[in-house]
Amino acid sequence: ARRMLIAGNWKMNGLRQSLGFFEEIRTLVEPGYAVDVLVAPPATLVQAAAQASNGIFIAGQDCHVAESGAHTGDISAAMLKDAGATHVIVGHSERRSDHGERSETVRQKAEAAQSAGLVPIICVGEQEEDRRAGRHTDVVGEQLDASNPGNGDFIIAYEPVWAIGTGLTASVRDIAAMHEFIRGRVAGGASRQILYGGSVKPDNAAEILDLDDVDGALVGGASLKASDFAAIISAA
Ligand code: 13P
Repeated sequence: ARRMLIAGNWKMNGLRQSLGFFEEIRTLVEPGYAVDVLVAPPATLVQAAAQASNGIFIAGQDCHVAESGAHTGDISAAMLKDAGATHVIVGHSERRSDHGERSETVRQKAEAAQSAGLVPIICVGEQEEDRRAGRHTDVVGEQLDASNPGNGDFIIAYEPVWAIGTGLTASVRDIAAMHEFIRGRVAGGASRQILYGGSVKPDNAAEILDLDDVDGALVGGASLKASDFAAIISAA
């Protein structure tokens, strides 16, 4: 059976004082919960978070395609691994829109992560106009084909762009349909973890995480507050 993964993406939030989060989670969540938990803090906190994490996996939010070199401001997968990360998010829609990342680059980043011994969490998701035009499945299928390395360990996160940070979530029917589609399309689909992301909150987590093809959540805003994140872990 596939394990559940509840992953928090802090995006560009978090200072050293935020590290108390890991102790708070430990007091809020029943010991022995049967799901994996992950937090992707900003790069400045990866190392300290890995030391404070109490068994929570730590991820980077992006990595460069190269292992090292003349790339000012960038961080390699090997550096994240060295700092204590086990996973890295690649191809988040905010990277695709803020930094013009294309699926080809995302695939190279995922491969770089695998080479460094990290598990890439590869994000895909359609824009609002894609869904209105009824081409969401085609768009996600193309992103998926071009963004994933085809073999090795990787996780897919389906994040409809219009649901990110908006308080809108896809309906459980739409989520179920897209996850089933992704599972059929991706190599090793039957055993692949597929996460849903986009306005996952304590009050909608249970119905989303209940779906057969949903193996966890990638949580933005609600991962910043330990009590919200703990409630989502408990709903899994
Ligand atoms: P929100 O949960 O804030 O909508 O963000 C989702 C997301 O982008 C996680 O990567």
